[in-house]
Amino acid sequence: MAIDTDKIVHAVMHGSRIREEKGIIPLFGVYLSMIPVDFYNKISFGFEKQMQQPDEAESLLVNAAQECGYATFAGVRSSREWAEVVQPMISNDKDQIYSFVSIAIAFGWGDLGVRELIPGEKLVMRASDSYEAKGYWDAYGRADAGKCYMLRGVAAAFMDLVYGGEYPDGCFRYKALETHCQAKGDPYCEFVARKAAG
Ligand SMILES: [Zn+2]
Repeated sequence: MAIDTDKIVHAVMHGSRIREEKGIIPLFGVYLSMIPVDFYNKISFGFEKQMQQPDEAESLLVNAAQECGYATFAGVRSSREWAEVVQPMISNDKDQIYSFVSIAIAFGWGDLGVRELIPGEKLVMRASDSYEAKGYWDAYGRADAGKCYMLRGVAAAFMDLVYGGEYPDGCFRYKALETHCQAKGDPYCEFVARKAAG
């Protein structure tokens, strides 16, 4: 059976109407919250601009996203909602990745699509409306490198979860690069996750 993204998005949207008193959304086995993208971008890019070593800032932000994506989607995958809504549609490893991407779309992380998936080897994920790319462009103008640290980390985390071995020891088995980015003027953002060296 193919993965029905609409069904997954609908389940997440329906469930996200339930809020705890502090605005936390308990859903798919994890705790979510609504965060304005401008706020997120200000924190993320502000951190990068303040750091003396931009490469180190980039790597910290990508790693934080990867670890967060890894833990969050491990929770999602072991949830009751996953068992009820998603699991029946899954017939192989690739379907798990497609389901993660559908849930990330539902979370509002972007208009994402899988361009290529070689089991265990490579994931190419594309976004046509990255909020990080748009946020960077609006605040600072054209970038000279990819700026979508969140989605870059998340692409690798999806591979870690499916092909990296048992949770919680599989994080950082894969590493992603952003080969195209709208913040650089490319027509889309593209992330390529492959096995990490060593
Ligand atoms: Zn980008």
